[in-house]
Amino acid sequence: MHYYLWTIGCQMNFADSRRVAEELQKLGFQEAGRPEDADLVLLNTCVVRQSAEDKVVGRLTSLSSLKRRPQDLSAPPTVALMGCFVTEIPSLQRRYPWIDAFIKPSDIDSVIELAKQRVTIQYLTSDIQPPTSNPVSAGIPISYGCDHLCTYCVVRLRRGPEVSHPVEEIVAEVQGLVGGGVKEITLLGQNVDSYAFGLADLLEAVHEVEGLERIRFLTSHPVDMADRLIETAARLPKVCEYVEIPVQSGDDAILRRMGRGYTVTGYRELVARIRAAMPGAGLATDVIVGFPGETEAQFEATYRLLEEVRFDVVHVAAYSPRPGTPAERLADDVPPEEKERRRKAVDHLQERIAGEINARLLGQTVEILVETRRRGKWQGRTRTNKLVFVPVSEEDWTGRLVPVRITWTGPWSMQAEVVQS
Ligand code: SAM
Repeated sequence: MHYYLWTIGCQMNFADSRRVAEELQKLGFQEAGRPEDADLVLLNTCVVRQSAEDKVVGRLTSLSSLKRRPQDLSAPPTVALMGCFVTEIPSLQRRYPWIDAFIKPSDIDSVIELAKQRVTIQYLTSDIQPPTSNPVSAGIPISYGCDHLCTYCVVRLRRGPEVSHPVEEIVAEVQGLVGGGVKEITLLGQNVDSYAFGLADLLEAVHEVEGLERIRFLTSHPVDMADRLIETAARLPKVCEYVEIPVQSGDDAILRRMGRGYTVTGYRELVARIRAAMPGAGLATDVIVGFPGETEAQFEATYRLLEEVRFDVVHVAAYSPRPGTPAERLADDVPPEEKERRRKAVDHLQERIAGEINARLLGQTVEILVETRRRGKWQGRTRTNKLVFVPVSEEDWTGRLVPVRITWTGPWSMQAEVVQS
């Protein structure tokens, strides 16, 4: 039995897919390189922007021919769709009658039930195979859904209100992963810092897991980032100095219309508190350009805020109206070419800023966690989430913490040499 799993979207989707893959491998499934070779085809989908939704539709169109595969060759695969594309199932069934199952976002149990229906009884009773991959770094969703009411965002409509997993379940999952070789855990949530049982307490509990080297958490919402969380993250040695905290706009009127619940001044103060507690922390943010009614002056305010704060990473997206959201009713009045100009302007600015920030690391010694070997180099990340490549040594360094000296820097990655100890 083979499965083919295609994933698009947020870290949450990728974490869900990792879990699905693990469970399928326990059932005896092996990964297929192409959907044509699979018995079970799963698409884990995203609709946060129109471009993502278009990719899902394109993928579905190309997959529909699999179901018409001549019966004498082999049985057609079971095809299932999961993730945020799955809403209003009756209408999806009418549009895509050849799809076998529509599974709500993060409903991994239903995927596994479907897989069990596909396997034979021998498979179910045969020896459990260990997962073939042994990742160094794994994401764990700690909460699903969202309780915020950002006017542009479809996540709450698709994933529902926020539901948090209990601390003990998460700690048990971390222990299991660490037992399998994982060294770094990223706690995931649409707004990870609004975790119902307290993210600071969860960090303390996960920190106790022996063998775990690093802890990250993302994505945070500015409104939910309490001082206690900042203090705890700064104090616990395993928690990395890296915070993803979307600002979305540098203009108060736009922030209000986006329903974000903070002002630019409040956001600046939050960044100052994070930097005071964690000097040199890596900071990432999300920005939407071309929100309905965004004037040139309002865009420039965002641009100036990015120049002032100097983030390490900026994920910039052109506003995309999403069905059912309050902002969909506002006139989408920034023309596409103007949205693209603003998006590119932010990208260019960020390329310069990231290049300057990284250049300051030249000659410095930093610790990286080696994740994999890629194009003849070891690939790892610093605690501040910078991507670093090191020439390959004889030994296998996967999963090791290695001190390296930075020898070259660019905006998106760095090269380094090993520091002999
Ligand atoms: N914690 C995050 C926050 O504070 O907003 C939530 C992450 S959100 C699910 C993922 C990102 O997708 C958002 O930060 C936003 O920049 C982008 N996004 C969401 N809806 C969008 C839309 N309609 N058009 C363009 N970008 C959008």
